Formats: sequence, C-alpha cells, structure tokens
Amino acid sequence: MKNNPLNRLQKWMMGRNGGDQLSLALLILSLLLSIVSGILDLPIIIYISYIPFVLAVYRIFSKKVDKRRLENYKFMMKVSPIYSFYHKRKTTLKDRKTHKYFKCPNCKQGLRVPKGKGKINITCSKCGTKFIKQS
Ligand SMILES: [Zn+2]
Repeated sequence: MKNNPLNRLQKWMMGRNGGDQLSLALLILSLLLSIVSGILDLPIIIYISYIPFVLAVYRIFSKKVDKRRLENYKFMMKVSPIYSFYHKRKTTLKDRKTHKYFKCPNCKQGLRVPKGKGKINITCSKCGTKFIKQS
C-alpha cells in the first residue's frame, strides 16, 4: 500500500511550488484565449494560448520555490487594488441593512455609520471634518 500512485505523486511533488494564484490566473488566461480563438475563428490564438498554459505548468512543477513565491507575491501586489475593490463592494452589500455609507465632504474618505440612529454627527476618521447626516 505504501507505493500507491497517489503517494508517489505526493513524493514527486515534494519541494515543488504547486498551484498558486499566479498559475491559476495563467490557466484562466489560457482558457480565455482558447475561447476567444473559437469565437473569432482565429486558430493562431490557440497557439498563443499555449504560452500561459506552459508557464503555469512550469511554475506548478518548479523546484525554485522561493523564486516562484516572489513572482506570485509581485503578481498579488499588482492585482490587489482590484481584489480589495471587490472585497469592499462585497462587505458594503452585506451590511447595507445595518450600516450607511457616507463620503467625507472634505477628503472623500468613505465612512461607515450604523443605520437608524436619526440625525448624527459624523467625524471623518481621516481628516477630522465634522458633518451631520441622516442615518
Ligand atoms: Zn475627511
């Protein structure tokens, strides 16, 4: 039982990078390119779609884990503004029933206050500007 294929695969994968966000993004890019190729009827794009695919596979099985981690980190830093934007929207939607969102009239900082407290005094957490709003 010791030498079943799964154990052997696990052993073989030891010390290798494995899947990460960058590889996943490359795989998705490859898939999108192949879909676009089908839509536009341009077979050349299929060949281009192999590039991110090969890169993703190379990264997953790479033994230079430190280098791959750094690449993934740099990638995450680049996409993180997009990430945090979506994350913020998700939380906004989630507590829309219990909280209200205002923008500071001075610095445009987004402020979150509990809902249903009547007219309240809001102090901007960033610049300290005070303003009154209906919550
Ligand atoms: Zn402010």
